Amino acid sequence: SETTPPFAEGLSVILNPDQSRYLAAVMRLSVDDTVSIFNGRDGEWGARLSEVGKKAVKLDLIEQTRPQPTGQGPILAVALIKRSALEYIVEKATELGAGTIQLLTTRRTNASHTNVERLVSIAKESAEQTERLDVPEILAPVKLDRFLAAAAFDRLIFGDENSTHEGTRETLPLLQALKTTAAVERSVILIGPEGGFDDDERLALRGRPDCIPVNLGPRILRADTAAISALTLYQAVVGD
Ligand code: SAM
Repeated sequence: SETTPPFAEGLSVILNPDQSRYLAAVMRLSVDDTVSIFNGRDGEWGARLSEVGKKAVKLDLIEQTRPQPTGQGPILAVALIKRSALEYIVEKATELGAGTIQLLTTRRTNASHTNVERLVSIAKESAEQTERLDVPEILAPVKLDRFLAAAAFDRLIFGDENSTHEGTRETLPLLQALKTTAAVERSVILIGPEGGFDDDERLALRGRPDCIPVNLGPRILRADTAAISALTLYQAVVGD
């Protein structure tokens, strides 16, 4: 967890009860077995189990095996949708390299309460599974216009099922244009709610110079499908 002192050779780390149980009971590891660990800040380290107690496993750090990645992935800005679909988006966006997941309220979002804590733990579990050394930041819901006004982005890729690019639905030429020097971590992929963006929102988005309306094919995708396909296309073109 981020609360440990900076990882260094010989440092001992006591795992929390869940992590300890997983290593001792599920993985059935014992003293002198080695594992790879990360804390989201200091890269990946090899570590040796030095004590295996009922409630706590102690690890002694051996050496860094992978440096902490420097860059961050793109921002996925997604309107609130029903809980299970949102949790699915967080898990898949983590696997697909999103750097930040910004939750949004828009004119047509109707989800009231969102359990950000739960989304954070889903992101952590998914980062472990996908062997990412950084966990995407989950930002609590803000209004779309506030989000757009808050910071300048290098580009804003807006999933717009009504957009055609010069009369075709070809998306790739648009995305190829992304291979500019613009910083990946200042790119936003914006996906609307089940009811879509309303006309005013769509107009405001299309009016922005940094906005690229992108269609993801001729069918209406569920928001979670749209988020995953947009991130996949982005990663395929930008390579991160
Ligand atoms: N407006 C849609 C309708 O008429 O039923 C519903 C919105 S869709 C469920 C949720 C979001 O996914 C949209 O706001 C858009 O951002 C994205 N999306 C869905 N299908 C898409 C497509 N074919 N191309 C681009 N974006 C799409």
